[in-house]
Amino acid sequence: MILDLQQFESFPAEIVLKGDSGSFDLDYQGLKSLKSIEVELRIQESGEEYFCQGNVKASVDVECSRCLSSFDKECQNKIDFIVCTESLHEAKDGDVLDSEDYAYFVGGDLKADISDILRQSIILSLSLSLLCSEDCNGLCSQCGINLNEQKCSCETENIDPRWESLKKLSKQTTENKENS
Ligand SMILES: [Zn+2]
Ligand SMILES: [Zn+2]
Repeated sequence: MILDLQQFESFPAEIVLKGDSGSFDLDYQGLKSLKSIEVELRIQESGEEYFCQGNVKASVDVECSRCLSSFDKECQNKIDFIVCTESLHEAKDGDVLDSEDYAYFVGGDLKADISDILRQSIILSLSLSLLCSEDCNGLCSQCGINLNEQKCSCETENIDPRWESLKKLSKQTTENKENS
């Protein structure tokens, strides 16, 4: 997604950028693709740097980490970054320890690719556990069917694996006692 600063006659300026699935790739673990995105920005000019702050709202095609089905998830996050030339950032980098994000102008134009900043913001705002619903039943560990959609007749003892190892342990202890 490109932020074109040439279009503004003066600063501070405001803009709303809208994009769709073609704006950039969002291939990250359970995040399959971007569906739509809206970016609101306020831009301040300071010398050769442009300070941008605003909001990103996106709709993302997500894969449930339990049942692997796809669903849409909305997310929203604040963004805060600086646009400048790469050489200017490199020149400054030694003296200031900063955690701010940077986007760089491509070539001699005042156009910056802000895709990486938006991608990171979306990834951060979506929780690590991506579930289609809080009580998703997941997949059957034996036959693999989606237990939200169907029931199967597999014999699954619904035992937490942690209990399973405890059970083995107590069995061993009993056996040891019997042997001695
Ligand atoms: Zn699910
Ligand atoms: Zn099953």
